[in-house]
Amino acid sequence: MNKADSERLSSGLEQLGLRHISDTKSADIVVANTCVVRQSSEDKASGFIDSFKSYKRANPEKLFAVMGCMVGPDNKNLKERFPHVDLFMRPQQFEPLIESVANRLNMDIESCIKNLTPVRPQISAYVPIIHGCDKFCSFCIIPYRRGREKSRTIEELTHECELLVDRGVREITLLGQNVDSYGHDFTQKKSLADLLYAINEIPNLLRIRFLTSHPNDMSPDIIEAVATLPKVCEHFNLPFQAGADRILEIMRRGYTNDQYRRLVKSIRSQIPDVSITTDLIVGFCSETDAEFTKSHEMIRDMKFDKVHVSPYSTRKGTIADRKLQDDVPQLEKKERVRKIEELQKDVAIRNNQRLLGTTVEVLVETQNKGKWQGRTRTDKLVFFEHHNDFTGQLVNVHISSTGPWSLQGKLINTPNITSRKTTFPIALK
Ligand code: SF4
Repeated sequence: MNKADSERLSSGLEQLGLRHISDTKSADIVVANTCVVRQSSEDKASGFIDSFKSYKRANPEKLFAVMGCMVGPDNKNLKERFPHVDLFMRPQQFEPLIESVANRLNMDIESCIKNLTPVRPQISAYVPIIHGCDKFCSFCIIPYRRGREKSRTIEELTHECELLVDRGVREITLLGQNVDSYGHDFTQKKSLADLLYAINEIPNLLRIRFLTSHPNDMSPDIIEAVATLPKVCEHFNLPFQAGADRILEIMRRGYTNDQYRRLVKSIRSQIPDVSITTDLIVGFCSETDAEFTKSHEMIRDMKFDKVHVSPYSTRKGTIADRKLQDDVPQLEKKERVRKIEELQKDVAIRNNQRLLGTTVEVLVETQNKGKWQGRTRTDKLVFFEHHNDFTGQLVNVHISSTGPWSLQGKLINTPNITSRKTTFPIALK
């Protein structure tokens, strides 16, 4: 979501005539787009902001802004802590910076800024479709920083996706903190499935993805849309967060271990070649060894394609901060992360080995260390060598070696796509 926000802010600034450069110390304007979902992200953001203190003192004319989840409704503390910051902006609050720059440049932004769709997007682009979250999981800071759920209309989103495709995008990932809640806040309710059907119609768009899902909002019509729409990829990111029911309850997740397992079983029965990734927190308040074992068993049994595991860290102002105790020792949390990562590596090796000798459809995104890099419909990273440029095209790759995190293969001339939903011909030059 932060990447999508940064691209949109960048689009606004580019429309004012500014240019992106990667050397922050040479830039006239620097924006730190912050994430505070975990303590480690917050520490990283604080370190970056601190590193600009002496620089700003020596260059007072430079504009330094902080955006994103670090910025809450009341910034008194932040202003005291970081007096060298010129502007604090909440997530998606682009106007203060754009207005400030326009004033410096003597420009009337009404006639300059058309919309904030990225000007030079990559082959694969992110499109936020719903902002905020109404769930209030006890560990999570997001609802306090990004506010309540607010969906963008299907018309606005279809238009934005068409614009992105005109600018060269071939894959769109629809984003939301809880993407399955899309449209529930409209007076005349809509669903993510309605949006998927609309976007599937856009010519020249090759693939559609969405994330992140909440198990309680994963409705049958969304699963059916993934199963049937040709451009929607067979991939779900479905966080389970904890394996023990007691922990799920104090996390306020709203489902049990058994309900989660049944949901995954149902998805796999309807979409046999689906890939499922997940998020997991270990060492949540009062999590015992036996309860951690439930999470470990979940990883063993569910055979996820990827697991994002993190040690619990208290976020100030959350329900867990006010009502629970962060009492699992840091060393124990680290050990639990290690155990999950070790097991998941094993699972990922076995999952990917099943693709050895098969042919997969790859959307080529970029070149990396002399090899072409792209992803399968199930979001597996694939590398292959070829002298032609295939950026933005669908190609067939015969998989010759596999590892836990990526696949290597050879481009083949004969289409032999295994995906049952492929609608685009191979595009070899
Ligand atoms: S559903 Fe996700 S974003 Fe919303 S409160 Fe829970 S963890 Fe946070």
